[in-house]
Amino acid sequence: MKRPKTCLFCGTRANISKEHIWPEWLAPQLEPAEADSHITEFHSGEGKQPPQLVRRTEKQGPVHTKKVRAVCAPCNNGWMSVLESEVKPILVALIEQPKPTLTSAAATSLSRWVAVKAIVAEHAVEGTALTPYEDRSALRTLRAVPPYFRIFVAKHSLATQTAYYRQATTVSTSMRGPDPPLPPHIRRNIQAIALVVGSVCFYISAARVSGLAVEVLDPVHKMHRIWPDPTSTEDLTSLGVLRQPEIYAISRSLDRLVRQAVTSLRPIEKDAWEPYFVLLALQALRHKWRHFAVSTRKDPNITKADIARFLLPRPTLDEQKVWGMRISKLDSLIAVERATVEKMRLQKLSLLQVLLTESPRAVEL
Ligand SMILES: [Zn+2]
Repeated sequence: MKRPKTCLFCGTRANISKEHIWPEWLAPQLEPAEADSHITEFHSGEGKQPPQLVRRTEKQGPVHTKKVRAVCAPCNNGWMSVLESEVKPILVALIEQPKPTLTSAAATSLSRWVAVKAIVAEHAVEGTALTPYEDRSALRTLRAVPPYFRIFVAKHSLATQTAYYRQATTVSTSMRGPDPPLPPHIRRNIQAIALVVGSVCFYISAARVSGLAVEVLDPVHKMHRIWPDPTSTEDLTSLGVLRQPEIYAISRSLDRLVRQAVTSLRPIEKDAWEPYFVLLALQALRHKWRHFAVSTRKDPNITKADIARFLLPRPTLDEQKVWGMRISKLDSLIAVERATVEKMRLQKLSLLQVLLTESPRAVEL
């Protein structure tokens, strides 16, 4: 069922307008498009199956005219317009100069702008968004980029000046489902986005998954991080230039995480192993696996021989069951606590927004 359209950033239902992914003021910076139409494809896959093409639409106008109906007119003409004017000189310089520089203040503004574009584009396909309302709203009122976003920039050598590629999925590290649980109307908890704007390529990764090191989605190719904690932003002379295969690799970052090879282990002796205990032991002894993995080749992999040499402690079957149950209980408690912490973080954000932006009267401290 389609929900009535509401503004992504303020929740109003009135005056919903279309928002450009590539702002109109960028048109002079973009090479004239060869085609006068653009194609949008939506691929979808279950589990580890390769995604299938579900929908392909062709629309009039070059790709940089693409719009998403998701933002109200007051947001569009208000704070978003202010942000656009703030970012315009920064982005134009980044596109036009072969060796651009970026102050940390400029990097922060730019990362806000990229976050807005990423969030708007999340809503280009219904039911695939990731960012909870509280974080979208905080971007509007507190200019806060969600803490689980990571944003990178580089130049590129593609012929095209406008491209957008997004992968989004839902992962959970246990049988209990996503941790933290998905908020209302949100069905994804991890995404990777490549956005080409003129001669510049942005990469945005976002993971709302407890216990997952967000760095796993960082680009392996040379990109400069602008969020969080932009590093040595004064000098971008070393800004990498991405080639086609590198942009392809970046845009498929989630594959590294999700589409991994599956191995099944079959015990020789019957009733010697409790599967859950084996899983726990393998997970806990991951550091030893890593030793095997790096010893093989550049793209780490584990062979059958590696697995055969790997030793596991072996308590009795009953002990394995008891330990498995104890640890599972603790895991449940941890998941509950994490969900509470995430709920409190979102509540705190809402409260801060009310206090700082909607409070009827300011009170002296
Ligand atoms: Zn709005």
